[in-house]
Amino acid sequence: MTDLIVATKNQGKLREIKELLKDFDFNIISLLDFPDVPQVEEDGKTFAQNAIKKAVTIAMYTKKLTLGEDSGLEVKALGNKPGIHSARFASEKATDKENNKKLLKSLKNVPLNKRQARYRSFVAIVDSKRIIDIVNGSCSGIIAKEEKGTNGFGYDPLFIIPKYKKTFGELDSAIKAKISHRARALRKVKQVLIKYLKQK
Ligand code: IMP
Repeated sequence: MTDLIVATKNQGKLREIKELLKDFDFNIISLLDFPDVPQVEEDGKTFAQNAIKKAVTIAMYTKKLTLGEDSGLEVKALGNKPGIHSARFASEKATDKENNKKLLKSLKNVPLNKRQARYRSFVAIVDSKRIIDIVNGSCSGIIAKEEKGTNGFGYDPLFIIPKYKKTFGELDSAIKAKISHRARALRKVKQVLIKYLKQK
């Protein structure tokens, strides 16, 4: 079985990535299993740069096939903020609750029809020799006026999917696994990995 390192310590992300790649014969290992791994400073200017930096740093450290994901929320009325700063929107070590609170405050006087947003996910696949590929996916939604539901993680209780009129916090995880930004990016990752394994 091939080892695949997922360069994250984010439990919510990891759970989704494992689920989305479950039909592959990979031994998925995360940074939670590498306590001494170097800290990757997310100082890129784009999701793509951060995804590559995470994957390259960890692939050089582990010498194994590595997947680096950088994702976030872009809110139109906030000029696409928080974007690459989504995890640290309220403060450097902010919790999901604090970030959601700050988002609601930032959109206080914005009506529902002006609260368009999208999640974006960029995934870099790297081995010890090269960057194999970088793919992305996005998912459009509306920012709710209050948190609803406890499924998912991060901004999910505020992210309404118009088709269902429900937030990702309320929707079943199986629906998020079909339509999310990460699901869309990881479907492309699967194709990249199939090709990579064939060439190996
Ligand atoms: P990263 O670890 O720098 O990629 O941070 C991603 C951040 O974006 C998370 O901490 C969340 O705040 C937000 N985010 C990304 N994907 C999702 C998602 O699927 N649901 C909710 N929030 C997300």
